[in-house]
Amino acid sequence: MSDPVKVDVHMHLYPTAASGEWWKAGYEIWEYGDKDGVTFSRYSGTVGDALAAMAAAGFAHGIAVNLLSVDLFREEAAAMLPAALQGEDRARAVAEIEATMAERFRAANRWLVDALAPVRQLTPYVGVDPWALSPQENLEHLREMAERGARGIKLHPVAQRFQPDDPRMRPVYRLCEELGLVVLSHTGSAKGGEPFAEPRAFAAILERHPRLTVVLAHLGGGSWRQTLDLARAFPRVAFDLCEIIEWTGAPGAPSAEELGRLIRQVGPERVLLGTDFPWYDLERTVELVLALPVLAAGDKERILGANAVDLLGLPV
Ligand SMILES: [Zn+2]
Repeated sequence: MSDPVKVDVHMHLYPTAASGEWWKAGYEIWEYGDKDGVTFSRYSGTVGDALAAMAAAGFAHGIAVNLLSVDLFREEAAAMLPAALQGEDRARAVAEIEATMAERFRAANRWLVDALAPVRQLTPYVGVDPWALSPQENLEHLREMAERGARGIKLHPVAQRFQPDDPRMRPVYRLCEELGLVVLSHTGSAKGGEPFAEPRAFAAILERHPRLTVVLAHLGGGSWRQTLDLARAFPRVAFDLCEIIEWTGAPGAPSAEELGRLIRQVGPERVLLGTDFPWYDLERTVELVLALPVLAAGDKERILGANAVDLLGLPV
């Protein structure tokens, strides 16, 4: 096999190793059930980690996404308070975290775009959250981020607790269409059953915003049985295969055979390699893609990177 171009469309980066480790420890992956032998990355998710992992696995490019969530930001900031801070002082610090939430979100996005400005191999997608900023504030912030290098946005409707077609998000999607920003969203099941990020929950925005470039992560995750219907109804939507490919064979995940068949039915040209780094490793994800049954060798090669270059217009 010649050496195909490799692109990771779904990486998470953190300003410090401590922050990355906090997110890895605190983010619960429950929807697939139990599986022995799931392999997690040893990296913490700093920019240096990402570049080292990409170099080791021969990746030409990566997309770094910012997952913002009021709940998780609040927990992380509280976890980072000094243990000695107790009583009223602690209560004051917690109130201060709450009062500065909007600014914390903006700062996280500014950090990402500025950290990656000199890094040609990584493209930033910033986080948008309808609870953290008003629709007008989100638009202003997103315009600023696009001017500073953001090429897309990342949504996690489960962790962020909103429906993809929440009316507060419509102006954001319109701006993404106008500026050519990609929307990359988590998909999967929600605890308690709200369809926050099941594949079918995206039908309304795909209908309403026909020019929007949408990548749905995890091929539907624990709700993967809905993915084919959505893919057939909306031929423009693309998918990434991170996480689900590591969990094949778990009770809530497809078998490797079912995943290969799903990708062939969706159309292998619409499926992109992601890793959810620093949760999973680049090299191992490449191996898992190449080992998928059902798919032709040429299709798997294109999933490694060529599809992403074509669909997302990356500078590779
Ligand atoms: Zn992710």
